[in-house]
Amino acid sequence: AASTKQDFIRQIVREDVANGKHSAIKTRFPPEPNGYLHIGHAKAICLDFGIAAEFGGSCNLRLDDTNPAKEDPEYVRAIQEDVHWLGFDWHDLRHASDYFEVLYLAAEKLVRQGDAFVCDLSANEVRAYRGTLTEPGRNSPYRDRSVEDNLDLLRRMRAGEFADGARTLRAKIDMASGNMNLRDPALYRIKHVEHQNTGNDWPIYPMYDFAHSLSDAVEGITHSLCTLEFEDHRPLYDWCVDQVDLAHSPELIQPLLDKGLPFEASKPRQIEFSRLNFNYLVMSKRKLMALVNDGLVDGWDDPRMPSLQGIRRRGYTPSSLRLMVDRVGISKQNSLLDLSILEGALRDDLDAAAPRRMAVIDPLKLTITNLSTGHEEALTFPNHPKDESFGTRTVPFSNELWIEREDFEEVPPKGFKRLIPGGEVRLRGAGIFRCDEVIKDGDTVVEIRGELDPESRPGMAGADRKIKGTIHWVSAHHAIKAEIRLYDRLFMVADPDNDEGGKTYQDYLNPDSRRTVSGYVEPAAAAAAPEQSFQFERIGYFVADRHDHRHDAPVFNRSVTLRDTWAS
Ligand code: ATP
Ligand code: MG
Ligand code: MG
Repeated sequence: AASTKQDFIRQIVREDVANGKHSAIKTRFPPEPNGYLHIGHAKAICLDFGIAAEFGGSCNLRLDDTNPAKEDPEYVRAIQEDVHWLGFDWHDLRHASDYFEVLYLAAEKLVRQGDAFVCDLSANEVRAYRGTLTEPGRNSPYRDRSVEDNLDLLRRMRAGEFADGARTLRAKIDMASGNMNLRDPALYRIKHVEHQNTGNDWPIYPMYDFAHSLSDAVEGITHSLCTLEFEDHRPLYDWCVDQVDLAHSPELIQPLLDKGLPFEASKPRQIEFSRLNFNYLVMSKRKLMALVNDGLVDGWDDPRMPSLQGIRRRGYTPSSLRLMVDRVGISKQNSLLDLSILEGALRDDLDAAAPRRMAVIDPLKLTITNLSTGHEEALTFPNHPKDESFGTRTVPFSNELWIEREDFEEVPPKGFKRLIPGGEVRLRGAGIFRCDEVIKDGDTVVEIRGELDPESRPGMAGADRKIKGTIHWVSAHHAIKAEIRLYDRLFMVADPDNDEGGKTYQDYLNPDSRRTVSGYVEPAAAAAAPEQSFQFERIGYFVADRHDHRHDAPVFNRSVTLRDTWAS
């Protein structure tokens, strides 16, 4: 589909297409496989894959696996699953580690050109030499090593002769640069650690800026989209691409061709956009990892987690996330968005897409005394009030129902429109009921008894009587007992990252973020497939739990309430 969106990145791409700057648009989504993707990544995914699709180009999924100590194949699998779940597919699946040989040859090239040197300063010394924002740094005493010495040392680093941290390969740029990233940044470090793809082949690993820029260049990426914190890295990104100049260095590309991987020369352009951040959430893999490791949630797919696995289990749909990303738009302005934008997108998506069902989450028995004991009938209900294409379903009805405890009040507060002693209420789709008797056990109401007006069934003349309230119900003889997990926001405060007074986000956890109750659902809800979403009428949007739901033992998660009821 041609893009109609007008954000600044699509404007740039549109102009590049109009000017014939590229033969095809190529983007990539480059997560580091050191954790699960979160809602923020959904923005990057929708942008990277979306732009490629809208402009007839392609998007690679590239796992930025240059930090082997923190990476795991478990994350690699989950990342692929999440991208597919969001509705996107990649052109090629690549790993930065596919290019380790190319990157190494590029490093040797920089050394031969006099653009990189092997430095023996320790990490602390490097820091001390780097200077500050207001003071220039000092050149490393190893900066003027000869090309021969540098080449020899780099090869010995590669051969594994030196201990972790003993040396680095650094770019030779400008220790007085106003941009700290250009003060002779490290390109390679020594790390004797096994890598999930390359095993023990490499005792040295490339640094992010070097690996990322050259990976883009190797893959022929035209527009390299990333978040704003990389704006200051762009000069280094360009420096790496330009100094290495893969397009004119066929010898560097040979390892790629040997692997059967294609090479398309490009001069990738990095463009930054603002990160997605919501209040009441934390969104960094490190913090989410800590919640999991400290047992504060039940894992990465806990429905309260902002991980894609978590919100999926909560009942967020791929289309609701794409809708949210479209509504938020793309800009260079970092901001903390209100969580209602996320919840609102889910409500709007499910309002249109979710069939309606009836469920009672805090049951109170209601007996209809003018129907015989064991009375049963099958009523027909529309599955969606606004969309006939959803069809109808059969809802069993009988003389004994469960209603919502809060729909009855013995001593009603002012304005209460539902059931009261002696009062009438409409039972959804079944007629008008009058409460004649309230049975109690001590102070607790245990049963309501009364009559159903036989002339008030939908379609009958008596059905039009003016009655203030309508309540939902399920047939006690047919309903299926269900575990209902009522999720709420994980954090109580809008800014859980605020660390005032030595607090951490872990101090702001909402103790009521999950409440499990036992309720009853109509048979058509129990029959749901895992991950199927419903509006439980008058209660909220719910999803059949992806892992725990069974037809004979249903488990539903509350995805979002019907309205924004959060009191802050
Ligand atoms: P985190 O800081 O949460 O751990 P990250 O930026 O380290 O995330 P990566 O795996 O490196 O995560 O990210 C892959 C891509 O997703 C990058 O292009 C990154 O800019 C983008 N991305 C990450 N977080 C967000 C976010 N909150 N909003 C938009 N894009 C994001
Ligand atoms: Mg990262
Ligand atoms: Mg990070």
